[in-house]
Amino acid sequence: MAGEKEIKEIYENGMKILEELTSNAHEIQEQMLEEILIRNAGTEYLSRFFVHGQNHKQNFKTNVPIVTYEDIKPYIDRIANGETSSILFADPITQFIQSTGTSEGKPKLIPMTAESFEKRMVKPLLVDLVMKKCISGLDQGKSFYLFFVKPEMETPSGLMASLYTTSYFKTQIFKNGLAKFCTSPIDTILCLDNKQSMYCQLLTGLLLRDEVVRIGSSFASVLARSIKFLEDYWKELCSNIRTGYLSDWIADPACRNAMSSILTRPEPELADLIQQICEDKSWEGIIKELWPEVKCISSIITGSMSQYIPLLEFYGGGIPLVSPNCGSSEACFGINLKPLSKPFDVSYTILPNMAYFEFLPVNNDGGGMSHETTTVNKPVDLANVKIGRYYEVVVTTLAGLYRYRVGDILKVTGFYNKSPQFQFVERQNVVLSIDLDKTTEVDLSKAITKAKLVLEPLGIMLTTYSSYADTSLTPGRYVLFWELKMKGSNDLPKLDAKIMEECCGIVEESFDFTYKSLRKGGVISALELRVVKHGTFDELMDFYVSKGASISQYKPPCCLKSEEAVKLLNLGMVGTFFSPKTMF
Ligand code: AMP
Repeated sequence: MAGEKEIKEIYENGMKILEELTSNAHEIQEQMLEEILIRNAGTEYLSRFFVHGQNHKQNFKTNVPIVTYEDIKPYIDRIANGETSSILFADPITQFIQSTGTSEGKPKLIPMTAESFEKRMVKPLLVDLVMKKCISGLDQGKSFYLFFVKPEMETPSGLMASLYTTSYFKTQIFKNGLAKFCTSPIDTILCLDNKQSMYCQLLTGLLLRDEVVRIGSSFASVLARSIKFLEDYWKELCSNIRTGYLSDWIADPACRNAMSSILTRPEPELADLIQQICEDKSWEGIIKELWPEVKCISSIITGSMSQYIPLLEFYGGGIPLVSPNCGSSEACFGINLKPLSKPFDVSYTILPNMAYFEFLPVNNDGGGMSHETTTVNKPVDLANVKIGRYYEVVVTTLAGLYRYRVGDILKVTGFYNKSPQFQFVERQNVVLSIDLDKTTEVDLSKAITKAKLVLEPLGIMLTTYSSYADTSLTPGRYVLFWELKMKGSNDLPKLDAKIMEECCGIVEESFDFTYKSLRKGGVISALELRVVKHGTFDELMDFYVSKGASISQYKPPCCLKSEEAVKLLNLGMVGTFFSPKTMF
């Protein structure tokens, strides 16, 4: 059966494989580039950059341009529309992976071949192996992973496009491998109704609480959402456990069928115990109480996900948080070889067989606003990165991406054998982020430019704006601060609620595909617009100057990271408006 050999090989020799990969990182990278070029030099895309008889590898970096998704989109669109010639890759493209949205509001489509897809499936096995080696007791129970899928989309060519995880959960290698150690039955993971899926997975996790040694999700945001769901549904879950009957609204036949072999009888004692724990006013340490054998919480908690660390630490009650890996739809970058490192010290080690990596140096100081990040130099390869420097990742993949800027910024922190280790810094230019949404400064400015057109005929001017991601409540929302005045005077305009709400709607409408789908799914709440009185942003400037900013270089931040700054703007607030609830 597909993948069984690989699973066995990795479980038997995984640590040795990792040692070999990292010790020979440079050679593996060179071989990989050579192989990709030999196989694909004749493709329509690459052949333009090479003169016949030239050494492809030697000329790769001088001839092949560094590109973004927008540059290669026309080629990808042709494949999606059914052209089968070797446009980007010699082997047939077998599917697309949907990646986080583009600024035009559609997901990126990342081509995949059967071979590249299979190669990637090794990563979760390696991650699992490293965790089991470093955290004792993990192999003595089950993992309560909250996994979800999204509907696939068919392209005109008939090739399917789906999230990487959705495709992965449907493979035999997952079903016959990791899934066997998970509490959630595969049919509850594959249920397209996320609410029914979440309910059944939580119910299973509670029923099997004594067996659970690890709890997790792919991203920390998902875990945060799951805890919120538990807050809303624990009474009903307890009632199902008490009576042994599954709630009627779980209508998905596959879910009901899967649950029938788990919820087999009334368990009033278990229900009482869970009820007693959940009735407690404070949910501090609830994970430890509900799942007493849990050894770690596994979820990505770096980059924009670090906003969930305090929350997970609060609910976890001292259980270690593990951020297992780092990657994107385009390629897997690395895994965490020290799972027990502290959340803010997490480094990932590059897996050199996942793609050919180049690193564009950027002059980022690593903190503050990412729009200060600019590319300053030519890319270097894996052997030449320097500890302490920041780089944007550029990948050449086994599925038709050549010198492709992923957009993520990494800081090199060291080496494991010959493989660089890095901290994830943040996507370039991202200013607002909740869950998987990443709204850039440009997205925000375009959206606001559109929305303010509504105010102009009324003689109202938007003088300055800022924003922040309010995640104090779940689901979180983006909040905009607008300083408004009448043209020709500093008077505060009369604020018509309908018009202001229309502005909110235009901003949301202009955001990308990812934002809209998260908003539709209730993962992000309606956008809020807070109007502040004239002069409020001057006070903000005074505040930053008092903190050491230079007046001559001062630029109002388009996104606020400091709570004090948010408080200050709130003091000047004269009205608050929300997007229409029915918008999505
Ligand atoms: P997607 O291509 O839609 O799956 O999104 C992948 C993106 O998620 C990456 O490009 C990163 O921006 C982000 N990401 C993935 N892994 C991590 C990580 N370990 N820490 C922070 N962000 C991550």
